[in-house]
Amino acid sequence: VRIGVLGGGQLGRMLALAAIPLGHEVTFLEPAAEAAVAGLGRLIAAPFDDPGALADLAARADVVTYEFENVPVHAARALAARVPVHPTPEALAVSQDRLLEKRFLRELGIGTAPFIGVEDRAELARAADQLGLPIVVKTRRSGYDGKGQVIVRRWDDLEAAWQALAPAPCIAEELVAFARELSIVAVRGRDGAVACWPLAENVHRDGILRRSRAPAPRCEVALQHAAERYARAILDRLDYVGVLALELFEVDGALLANEMAPRVHNSGHWTIDGAETSQFENHVRAITGAPLGDCSALGAAAMINLIGAPPPSDTILAVPGAHLHLYGKRPRPGRKVGHVTLRAADAATLEPRLQRLEALVAP
Ligand code: AMP
Repeated sequence: VRIGVLGGGQLGRMLALAAIPLGHEVTFLEPAAEAAVAGLGRLIAAPFDDPGALADLAARADVVTYEFENVPVHAARALAARVPVHPTPEALAVSQDRLLEKRFLRELGIGTAPFIGVEDRAELARAADQLGLPIVVKTRRSGYDGKGQVIVRRWDDLEAAWQALAPAPCIAEELVAFARELSIVAVRGRDGAVACWPLAENVHRDGILRRSRAPAPRCEVALQHAAERYARAILDRLDYVGVLALELFEVDGALLANEMAPRVHNSGHWTIDGAETSQFENHVRAITGAPLGDCSALGAAAMINLIGAPPPSDTILAVPGAHLHLYGKRPRPGRKVGHVTLRAADAATLEPRLQRLEALVAP
């Protein structure tokens, strides 16, 4: 099958690394000059909404997917008129707007933090009053990795928060005092079959994912089932094909949804080395209409992101159970240049290895 991918970053790279052994060919559309997918398929270097480039991609693909959720929805819809696009561009539209996304989740009966849409300074003050401080104020669109959001703890901080984000339309949310952050990665096939990986426990700093552990430690079956119910509701409502990630807060043993990503997700990278079938392989299987693979974990796994300049590879590879994934990107402060997955038969064996790795890579 000829697969077209909107985006050519590390997620595209790992999709290609799963698609090639299955006999597929990949063509990427990526505007940035330095693409992590170099050498893994044909590369069309052009803006996402370049009509000629989209026509070129459509001509070279039997199915199109995306690895970046800020692809213009109109570009995905234009492609969908010529070639199947999975997941549906509707999933892009919902996840690009934090307010629409939270309303969508609520409509499906999925719990979220209380939230209010905010268009101006006066509405922000009213929202802060209604929700009660502290709150998080986020731009509705194009925020990622903690960008475009401000925590307001005191009334005196309200003006500075508005100045930092205005005049963009925003969403104000109650600041959730969560016990921990979790995520569920799920996949739906063209025949409607759904499979879910075990919950991952995620640690963020400065809004960037640092570490995931999967299966999440101390996780009751009921919590896994609740997360799977949420994921299935989203997938079915959107008639979704491919992998979806849902980021969650665990609060008093219950789950609140924070955001969804209509694509393979950083908190699912552990599945390459730590699950029977990786999120990348299952995404490829789903969009090409193949049967889905088993999502079971192979023992215990942890994933650590390499952010900025990584330590020498050999120091990482010397840790038992370590698997190194570099993205071919030049290091810059705050830039994800790779990740390491650690795998062990069980959590007790994993723990000392994780401590050793974390001493090398400050998470
Ligand atoms: P987001 O961009 O919405 O994924 O937020 C990035 C990170 O900010 C999350 O992973 C949380 O650590 C934190 N965060 C976002 N929204 C909230 C909230 N309503 N309450 C508490 N923490 C939040």
